[in-house]
Amino acid sequence: MVFIRDPCGIACLIVTYGAVFYADYVVMRWIILTTMPVSIWAPFHVVLFNTVVFLLGMSHAKAVFSDPGIVPLPANRIDFSDMHTTNKNNPAGNGHSSEWTVCTRCETYRPPRAHHCRICKRCIRRMDHHCPWINNCVGERNQKYFLQFLIYVGILSLYSLVLIVASWVSPCEECNQNVIESQLRMIHSVILLLESALFGLFVTAIMVDQLHAILYDETAVEAIQQKGTYRPNRRKYQLLADVFGRGHPALWLLPCTSLNHASRYHDTPLLSHDV
Ligand SMILES: [Zn+2]
Ligand SMILES: [Zn+2]
Repeated sequence: MVFIRDPCGIACLIVTYGAVFYADYVVMRWIILTTMPVSIWAPFHVVLFNTVVFLLGMSHAKAVFSDPGIVPLPANRIDFSDMHTTNKNNPAGNGHSSEWTVCTRCETYRPPRAHHCRICKRCIRRMDHHCPWINNCVGERNQKYFLQFLIYVGILSLYSLVLIVASWVSPCEECNQNVIESQLRMIHSVILLLESALFGLFVTAIMVDQLHAILYDETAVEAIQQKGTYRPNRRKYQLLADVFGRGHPALWLLPCTSLNHASRYHDTPLLSHDV
């Protein structure tokens, strides 16, 4: 389990939890309880909305506390004074020597596509970017949970918008509401409408970026460094399975560990140079 002590990341976590709890409060108290107390749809929406909240919380917690793919530090300090000869010696031993790089900050060799994160202060396998909203890096081992989190925020935003608009379009005639209650409901509805629109658009934009990065096999870091083009073309399904696991696609949205989740580089042995 990892937890990064970054004030910006911790503030973003608090904002995220606050926004989700507020959405749940407004939908339960001011939309379902107030506008559909006698409707048969009320229990259906209570269960479905809270299920999405639960899955959102699960995927977020997994993204926050999972190891994004931290490259272990070597047991002994590595002497880089003979780097020019070491490169020729093929440190990976598998024909990928040119893709293995040296991190002078971690003082270690790192596998292909790993990059150093200044906030996590470690090298991360297939690092995409450091995301303050999960207070963690998005890397090889937690990108699946990050994507699930984005998808559930998107679903929750859309669901909230639909419920708010429905409560305005077909108001409850038999509900006995006083003026203050009605005004409070309107204020909370407008705030949630703005929140849902804002977060919905935000996660949609990030999701498009993430899917582009996965399907074109180029992380955000590599896109900046223009390093993604040397890789052979692979099928889009395989690229998605690298992130979401080898299980059936129907299971890809479940925020649990897929047992047969194996990526190309998971089994690459790390170096332990004794100097
Ligand atoms: Zn590093
Ligand atoms: Zn990081």
